[in-house]
Amino acid sequence: MRKFDVIIVGFGLAGAALALQCLQRKKKFLVIDKQDVNSASRVAAGLFTPFTGQGNVKTWLADDIFQYLKRFYIQAEVLLDFSFFQPLPIYKPFNSIKEQNDWNAKSADPVFQNYIDLIWTPGSYGHDVIDPLGGVVISNGGILDTQAFLDSAKSLLLRDDNFCDEDFEFASLSLSGSSVRYKKLTADHIIFCEGIQVLHNSYFNWVPIRPLKGEVLEIEMDGPADRIYKQNIYVVPTGTPQVFRVGATYDRENILPGATNEARNELEIKLKELLNKDYKVTNQDWGIRPTTPDRKPVLGSHPVHKNLLLFNGLGTKGVSLAPYFSGVLLDWIDNKITLDKQVNISRFKSLYSGFE
Ligand SMILES: Cc1cc2nc3c(=O)[nH]c(=O)nc-3n(C[C@H](O)[C@H](O)[C@H](O)COP(=O)(O)OP(=O)(O)OC[C@H]3O[C@@H](n4cnc5c(N)ncnc54)[C@H](O)[C@@H]3O)c2cc1C
Repeated sequence: MRKFDVIIVGFGLAGAALALQCLQRKKKFLVIDKQDVNSASRVAAGLFTPFTGQGNVKTWLADDIFQYLKRFYIQAEVLLDFSFFQPLPIYKPFNSIKEQNDWNAKSADPVFQNYIDLIWTPGSYGHDVIDPLGGVVISNGGILDTQAFLDSAKSLLLRDDNFCDEDFEFASLSLSGSSVRYKKLTADHIIFCEGIQVLHNSYFNWVPIRPLKGEVLEIEMDGPADRIYKQNIYVVPTGTPQVFRVGATYDRENILPGATNEARNELEIKLKELLNKDYKVTNQDWGIRPTTPDRKPVLGSHPVHKNLLLFNGLGTKGVSLAPYFSGVLLDWIDNKITLDKQVNISRFKSLYSGFE
């Protein structure tokens, strides 16, 4: 019988961040994951930005999360001996005079000083971008090559026998006393990091994880690789010269598998409003984001089976939330901290009907 501190089910951004944190804390752990080419983490453009949504509000917990993620991914690059993390300036052209005024006001506010590099007015930050009203250069953003991050972390875990490439079978799980048993393994905790597939997990399918489909295009163009453009969509460079990712769409209605013409048209219209460049679409990806009604991650124990834990609800921000909250979850398991109500699974407890 192999014995672990933690079994992690799922190896997207949530499971991978958790696994690397376990490694750093010298926990005995095993990841069980069946790779899915359309998992949200594999199709994500990898952008992290300290401003959120059309209102451009400062991201929740930005001051903590952005310092943390930088340290986390840089340490991961050293550990995995691979490059996948790239801080980059984000240039956002203004849509209106009002927006220009709002950003000017923000740039004078100390709350935003770490996140606004400069206001560019009037326009032409580069020859490629359409910015007659100028724009803002946002700092502390960048991109994570999520495929490279996941692949290099998986290779290390496979090499050290910490990774099992298969579907987790719920029928082989038994719960008794202070540990859990799975096939010939036992563990103090199992942490489910299944993304949207949590909807098939009978222990946690009462948690309101809502699917939000997203699609991204891959394009080839003769554009700059030293910046991200962001307006109603983002255009991010990839590790390959002249290849960019353009995203994303947000669809709660049509969550069927597959890429759609509607999404491609929407992205191309917005791309032409942002960039004045010829391009060729070379690929289109889709995936389903696991979101929560209050847009906060969800972590903590099952209301009855305390050894079963959840780490989910990373929504549209897996790259920035996974490092920080995987650390929070392990600190909480080790009794170092209490779990903030805003992320604690207990906030949804009234939806659970399994109490005896
Ligand atoms: C088009 C698109 C673009 C995006 N762009 C960005 C972006 O630029 N920046 C950003 O921060 N976020 C972005 N996101 C959101 C981000 O991808 C998600 O927040 C994040 O990937 C969620 O990670 P996860 O680990 O929770 O889930 P997932 O990525 O879904 O990973 C879950 C893993 O668990 C495995 N699994 C599930 N059940 C089982 C089981 N029973 N047995 C074995 N394995 C199992 C799955 O196969 C998968 O490998 C984007 C999402 C989409 C769809």
